[in-house]
Amino acid sequence: MKIIMLGAPGAGKGTHAGKISEKYGIPHISTGDIFRENIKNGTELGKKAKGYMDAGELVPDELTCDLVVDRIHQDDAKNGYVLDGFPRTIPQAEALTKALAAAGEKVDYAIEINLDDQVIIDRMSGRRVCSCGATYHIVNIPPKKEGICDKCGKELVIRKDDEPETVKKRLEVYHKQTAPLIDYYKNEGILRVIDGTTGLEQGFQDICAILDQK
Ligand SMILES: [Zn+2]
Repeated sequence: MKIIMLGAPGAGKGTHAGKISEKYGIPHISTGDIFRENIKNGTELGKKAKGYMDAGELVPDELTCDLVVDRIHQDDAKNGYVLDGFPRTIPQAEALTKALAAAGEKVDYAIEINLDDQVIIDRMSGRRVCSCGATYHIVNIPPKKEGICDKCGKELVIRKDDEPETVKKRLEVYHKQTAPLIDYYKNEGILRVIDGTTGLEQGFQDICAILDQK
């Protein structure tokens, strides 16, 4: 069961990937974790990646792909894996397809969590956080008193990442760089789309229905 998660930032890819990992006993693999792990362990690939990061440059697609392929060939991924945040661009997807084909492998499913931009903007702009670490949402998890943390009484703030302008910029990058992957995997015949508006529980049931077909 080799799975790629697709969808806009804020659509819930990471959450669903975590739940898939737990239910099906396959690792949830994110590029952020792979980078951290390799740099911490001082691997050859990690050293190369760190060189780019220290210079403030983007890690090239091929190196990122090498790191991912190295990770998915570790023992715990023998029965499959769920990739979250990779591939992010068409060249990365092509590099992954090629590297897997060289090992006689291929991805089984690319699952897209489909959600309108406006829904994402509304969801994210409703988030509020407290410096104590508590998180809220003005509609879904409101504090007892508006704008005030239930736990410590401090004033709640909007994170920079959740500000509508920031969210819109991230969505623009997504539509330009990552959304073309939806067509790419459609052409490969492995795209499955779930409706992101139905909520986390229903969304996960829809994913399980897809994965349990085999
Ligand atoms: Zn607080």
